[in-house]
Amino acid sequence: MENLYNELMKDVRFEEGLKACMNCGVCTAICPAAEFYDYDPRKVVDAVQLRDDDEIIRLLKSETIWYCGECMSCKTRCPRGNTPGFIIMALRTMSQKLGYFTESEKGRQQLAIKRTVGENIFKYGYCAATYAVNPKMHPEQGPIWEYILENTDDVFERLGGQINGIGTGPLRKIPQDALDELKKIFDVTGGTEFFETIEKHSKAKAAEMGLQFSSEGTDNDYFVEVYTANSGSHNSHDI
Ligand code: SF4
Ligand code: SF4
Repeated sequence: MENLYNELMKDVRFEEGLKACMNCGVCTAICPAAEFYDYDPRKVVDAVQLRDDDEIIRLLKSETIWYCGECMSCKTRCPRGNTPGFIIMALRTMSQKLGYFTESEKGRQQLAIKRTVGENIFKYGYCAATYAVNPKMHPEQGPIWEYILENTDDVFERLGGQINGIGTGPLRKIPQDALDELKKIFDVTGGTEFFETIEKHSKAKAAEMGLQFSSEGTDNDYFVEVYTANSGSHNSHDI
């Protein structure tokens, strides 16, 4: 791969997101993620515009690039017309493709996202399918998911939904031909290959960490580790 900055420039989000940063810090002042994490989009933009591969690789391996909530508040305020949120998107994609995402706790969660909301799209046509949620994996929700699963019909009737029914409404059944078409779209646009790349790098990291890994599902040691790990260190500077 050639110079990483030049590679980033091939991503239209990066090209759109970075014109010239004058380090004013307005993006950080408006950024909600900066409120909750010790996170500073100004520093990310500044590090990238150094055009230094070592700096870019440090970002690709960092927790930092996974803190952004992609709210695009920064886009509305930057006096130079930059969009740090777009720059972060391009960095995340590069981190996923090159496998650097497995070097950070937040980055490793890409496998969990792929196997849950990502695969839900193929299986059900929805990224968020309530019946696919495992309450044991969401202790932070208390008894809410268990209640919803035990009272699904009642809950969705009140919301105008019809789980797996024909017709309209939330969580209605998506016809198989539509699901097949969705899969084809992923195949021809690179989405399927992208998913496979996440799996490949995650498998290698699991071996490095000495954790059991299965090629699918959530019932394996590496998946549980990336899904539940929380070092509690995300409020400390790492950039
Ligand atoms: S607001 Fe724009 S110019 Fe200012 S630090 Fe952020 S990206 Fe740079
Ligand atoms: S898109 Fe990301 S960097 Fe920009 S304001 Fe939102 S959270 Fe902050």
